[in-house]
Parts: sequence; C-alpha cells; structure tokens
Amino acid sequence: MRRITVVGMIILSLVAMPLVVAAAPALKGKTEICHIAGNGDAQMIEISLNAVAAHEAHGDTETCSIDETTVPLEAAFTFTILVETCSFFGCEVELDASSSEGNIDSYIWVASNGENAVGANAKIMLPNFATSTVTLAVDGPDGTATATQEIAIAFLP
Ligand SMILES: [Zn+2]
Repeated sequence: MRRITVVGMIILSLVAMPLVVAAAPALKGKTEICHIAGNGDAQMIEISLNAVAAHEAHGDTETCSIDETTVPLEAAFTFTILVETCSFFGCEVELDASSSEGNIDSYIWVASNGENAVGANAKIMLPNFATSTVTLAVDGPDGTATATQEIAIAFLP
C-alpha cells in the first residue's frame, strides 16, 4: 500500500510542472528601442517585448537622443549698412551671425580697420569710400570656424 502512494505523488508533480511554466506569461507584441550597435551607431529598431531586457542589458535606451555635436560648426553672417549713421568718415554696420550653425559659445568680429566686437549681433564702424574685410569667428566645444566678407562703403553725405 505504501508503494502505491509514492507513485501517485510523482504523477501529481509531473502534471504540476507544465502548469507552472505556463503561468509565466509570454509577452506579446512589439516595441521600439534605440539599439546601440557594436560600432557605437544608434538607431531605432523594432523588437519583440520579450527582447527588451536583453537590449537594455547592452545599453539600449527608450529613444535615441539627438546629439548636438552632429551639426557641424559653421560660421555665416549677414550685414546691413546703417545709412542713417553714415558720415564722410564712415558708417555703422549691423552684423548678424544667426545663420551660423552648430554648438556655439562665442562670436568674435574683427574688421580690417581694427574695429572688433563680440556677440551674435553686433555693430561696428567701417570707413567710408573703402572696402573693408570683416571676419566672424565662432567658437564652441567642436572647435572654431570663420567666415569672411568684404564690405564696400561709398556713401556721399
Ligand atoms: Zn540592442
């Protein structure tokens, strides 16, 4: 009688095991993750929800953040001669560096007549009846870039 009881217990445990496995629910569906490839490239890919933990384990994040340094540093500017300020000696010129691109910390302007200024928007005095060269230097974590333009003034007061 004792032997029959033991056999009965083994059968019960074999039945119970598949039930335990089935109780851990398999995740269904898909999601997107920012996958970091071995070479460091990051891109959004579609993965099954079951694979989320494995991707997170190798450093993936929910979304790919936009890296500011991917915009190359570039200096560019426009200028406006302020005619109302002109005299026989020169004119004030308004400088605008807002068309520059990249991660920029500082803007420095230098003109061929020795005038200089700082800031994305600046004003400098340039000589009348002359062509001056104005150079903009933009500086940031990615280095320095410059842009140069000739500004000719021939204003008859
Ligand atoms: Zn991944």
